[in-house]
Amino acid sequence: MIELLSHRGIRDERVLRAMSVVDRHLFVQEPFINRAYEDSALPIGHSQTISQPYTVAYMTECLEMKEGDKVLEVGTGSGYQAVILAEMGARLFTIERHMGLLTQARKIFDKLGYQIVSKCGDGTIGWKEFAPFDRILVTAGAPEIPQPLLDQLNSGGILVIPIGDLDVQNLHVIKRVNDHFEKRETFGFKFVPLIGRKGWR
Ligand code: SAH
Repeated sequence: MIELLSHRGIRDERVLRAMSVVDRHLFVQEPFINRAYEDSALPIGHSQTISQPYTVAYMTECLEMKEGDKVLEVGTGSGYQAVILAEMGARLFTIERHMGLLTQARKIFDKLGYQIVSKCGDGTIGWKEFAPFDRILVTAGAPEIPQPLLDQLNSGGILVIPIGDLDVQNLHVIKRVNDHFEKRETFGFKFVPLIGRKGWR
């Protein structure tokens, strides 16, 4: 899997290292364990998926995270992305709207010994009590950028979020520089929908 990721253009050694030490098969359902190291998204229940390894690696690279950064993830899902970020030294906060998925992810966080703060709720409104964040990563596709996430970004902070329609999204990488935002976009991703007050209804 790691060879494939570097072949596809992932250069950040810290990302490749984290993805080589975290066992992805722990985050997929029993029938898919033998496919855990393929570069594909896999079902995790509740009509949701664990993101494709390339997508995880690419988003993580875009985040340009530093050790000790306070990071908010929206869309815990299986917990895989959260553990990759924690392994890279993030102080991680993660929100999931399906309690069933969150319960499962929390079991893995505990089992592997990662200190990750999590809650069940609507991540489109961020997590005010712990804001501001140095980095925010949204792992589900949104129709537009939720304003609360921009408001909860530190100066110098980076928000990575897929924006588009329900079929295809572009990854937006938004950097806050004091009170203005610098944006770049990359094309052609497919995420499950971000559902919530500032997402899809
Ligand atoms: N990061 C996850 C990817 C899971 S798919 C992983 O590594 O496995 C995206 C997840 O976002 C789904 O579990 C979905 O239930 C969740 N989600 C969608 N809308 C959300 C919202 N408004 N708040 C929190 N989670 C949401």
